[in-house]
Amino acid sequence: MSASMTLQDIAPLSFPGVESGSPIVIAGPCSAETEQQTLDTASALKAQGIGIFRAGVWKPRTMPGGFEGVGDKALKWLQRVKHETGMLVATEVATVEHVHAALDTGIDILWIGARTSANPFSMQEISEVLHGHDELTVLVKNPMNPDLDLWLGALQRIHAAGITRLGAVHRGFSSAGAHIYRNDPQWHIPFELRRLVPGMTIMCDPSHIGGKRQYIEPLSQLALDMGFDGLMIECHCDPDNALSDSGQQVTPSQLKEILEHLVIRSGTPVDDELALLRQQIDDCDHELLAVLSRRMSVSREIGRFKKANNLRVVQPSRYQDVIKARLDEADHLGLDGDFTQRVMQAIHEESVRQQLNLPE
Ligand code: PEP
Ligand code: MN
Repeated sequence: MSASMTLQDIAPLSFPGVESGSPIVIAGPCSAETEQQTLDTASALKAQGIGIFRAGVWKPRTMPGGFEGVGDKALKWLQRVKHETGMLVATEVATVEHVHAALDTGIDILWIGARTSANPFSMQEISEVLHGHDELTVLVKNPMNPDLDLWLGALQRIHAAGITRLGAVHRGFSSAGAHIYRNDPQWHIPFELRRLVPGMTIMCDPSHIGGKRQYIEPLSQLALDMGFDGLMIECHCDPDNALSDSGQQVTPSQLKEILEHLVIRSGTPVDDELALLRQQIDDCDHELLAVLSRRMSVSREIGRFKKANNLRVVQPSRYQDVIKARLDEADHLGLDGDFTQRVMQAIHEESVRQQLNLPE
């Protein structure tokens, strides 16, 4: 049986205060840093009608030395948020110990982060301690790498523990080189998840996709237009001084503005095939530009090497070899030869121009 088959009975998530047809909004800081920051952010969000509060207690950092969260003691702060504001509270869990500690303090929603959903061993261990906690809501973020099966497998493991309040969060995929967004959205992957598991809530996390606060509003609008069921947005009472992800967090009042600007369109946008296809074209163009920018930077590096070693910028035999190899490759990919030649020529000319005009 395919992974998606076992997920067919999953129903859309509902939360108190969120009307059907309105997006589910989960907001709160990347990390709970102090009791004051946690409570101040939560009460400001509650005052504007947000019902679900997020905060990272244990922070998985790609590089050592970053802020790793304050750990268990922040669970007590989330407990206070829950009792004092009536909000539901959500945090990320990555180990069995995290799950036990979160369950002991009455956390309502657990989410699995991108670094954990990529690891089937971790997912299996977490799933085994979730048995018997079917009141819990669990959200599974996409894995770091764009692998739909890995995402489905992670969801399936949680579902196998008897968790039916299950949803997915799209936070984009990690990729090498410079990109506009911090994490490449590759929208076709969550669309395929939607096609395979149509009943499941799929939220979008524009904060981690965009990586900069100015992208949150356009990405949120795009996500709603594309049929995502909700948004998870990082929000901090003093974003510039946040200990993690400072550039992508917004204040509660900025969040209010963003949410007020969003247009909720009726109809079933996910069925709008043209919009979905155009989005894929946009994704391809983003990738093309990022690759071109990387190629030009390698080219300038080569230019510096040639200059230092007194070599000529244009070496015709190398150019002929490259063109031939690219035309063969293009043929295998079903690309037209003339078109490939024109594109490669334009790229080569620009490379030469860059090597002749190296910045000092
Ligand atoms: C987070 O939500 O703060 C987080 C670390 O997310 P991700 O797993 O998407 O990187
Ligand atoms: Mn974060």
